[in-house]
Amino acid sequence: MLRIDCPCCGPRDHDEFRYGGDASIIRPAHDDPDFEAWYRYVFVRRNPAGSHREHWQHVLGCRQWLIVERDTRTHSIASVALARKPAPRKSAQ
Ligand SMILES: [Zn+2]
Repeated sequence: MLRIDCPCCGPRDHDEFRYGGDASIIRPAHDDPDFEAWYRYVFVRRNPAGSHREHWQHVLGCRQWLIVERDTRTHSIASVALARKPAPRKSAQ
């Protein structure tokens, strides 16, 4: 059983989350005409034995997307963070 410590909800079983893929892949710009870059983005994936940054969504909780750094050999989780950057604070007027 994998337990993910959601920054919003606390530790939860992985059954509450949905795997969202490799978090290290960078999407090409939407107007990038490089076919090879789009091919790599859509189809080419690594299968690392060791530390792996992954997207997970807490679908049965806060619904936030997270970046989980997980060891694929042991399933131990080194870190969990929100995938989105926090909104900038508005200055007090
Ligand atoms: Zn959550």
